[in-house]
Amino acid sequence: MNVLILGSGQLARMMALAGVPLGIEVSAVDVSNHKVVNPLDKKRLDIHLETAIEAADAISVEFEHIPEALLEQVNRSGKLMPSSESIAAGADRVKEKALLDKLNIANCPYVIVDDIAQLDQAVATLGETLIIKASRDGYDGYGQWRLSSKEQLPEIKQALAELDLKKVPLVVEKMLTFEREVSLVGARGKNGQLALYPLVENLHHQGQLHTCVAPAPAITPALTAQAQNIFTALVNELNYIGVLAVEFFQMGDTLLVNEIAPRVHNSGHWSMQGADTCQFENHLRAICELPLGSTEVIAPSVMLNVIGCDLPSKDMLSVARTHLHGYMKTPRAKRKMGHINITAHNYAELGESMQKLQKWLPNSYFPTLNSEALRLL
Ligand code: ATP
Ligand code: MG
Ligand code: MG
Repeated sequence: MNVLILGSGQLARMMALAGVPLGIEVSAVDVSNHKVVNPLDKKRLDIHLETAIEAADAISVEFEHIPEALLEQVNRSGKLMPSSESIAAGADRVKEKALLDKLNIANCPYVIVDDIAQLDQAVATLGETLIIKASRDGYDGYGQWRLSSKEQLPEIKQALAELDLKKVPLVVEKMLTFEREVSLVGARGKNGQLALYPLVENLHHQGQLHTCVAPAPAITPALTAQAQNIFTALVNELNYIGVLAVEFFQMGDTLLVNEIAPRVHNSGHWSMQGADTCQFENHLRAICELPLGSTEVIAPSVMLNVIGCDLPSKDMLSVARTHLHGYMKTPRAKRKMGHINITAHNYAELGESMQKLQKWLPNSYFPTLNSEALRLL
């Protein structure tokens, strides 16, 4: 089988790796120039986009921010999974909010702003600690501005002055104080079969995911049920096919949806070692109409992103049950270079491994290493 992925970064690469044992050949499109590449090494393949679309059994995305013309071209093939509407719901925060509201799914209080003067109204409605998000093209905390007091309004307005808010409005959210961030990654097949991973806990630094603990500690059955009901409502509404990630803020017994990602997700990378079937394989299975694989947790895991710097020395592999996944990229600030999966028999053992790893991983590389959640392990 042939799968074509729009986007040629690490997510396409990990899908390609997962496809090998199944005989699923994954090629990728570099969305900046529409060239078809091998996602394993990014080398150009001798095939035009039109031919690759024709040859593909299924087409999917590794990223929701796909240029419109390209997405339309691919959509015409009838092979795109998840659907273009599902991708749009993750790519456009205005559509995302409309979807959540339509399904009565709790999310952060917000106001849509398409004229800079409306920011004052947003402050009056939501209070003066706000997070302002461009409705399109934001990820890893890009395209966001934080307001902590009214006095900063003139400065923020100036920073936003050059944006065309009529074309790309802002979603202004109340800055919430939550207990923690968790996410649910799961797959839905064509026949409606679901394969859901457990809730995982996500630790962020400067708006970017750094560390993930899977399964999230101290999750009640009620929280799991809440998350799974939300996930199910979303995928049923969208007639979704493939892996979907839902990011939540936990506030007491309640989960609020932060955002959704219509693709494999960084908070599912632990599943490569920690679950019976990893998210990349399950995404391929879903879009290729194969039975979905078990998401059973094989071992509690920690996933550490390597961000903006070289990969650590491979000597770190001397710590038992650690796995290094490099993406073959050149370091740049905030760039995800790879990740480390650590598994153990239990959380306490995970904590011990994290301690041992600190010898190889300077704290500056991993700002969440000393976080409360990891100290609890
Ligand atoms: P991703 O890379 O996950 O797609 P993104 O750039 O789309 O990220 P969000 O997920 O919306 O951005 O926000 C990034 C992070 O900023 C969140 O994970 C959370 O830590 C923080 N954040 C976002 N919205 C809020 C909010 N309303 N209140 C408090 N913190 C928030
Ligand atoms: Mg996002
Ligand atoms: Mg996010």
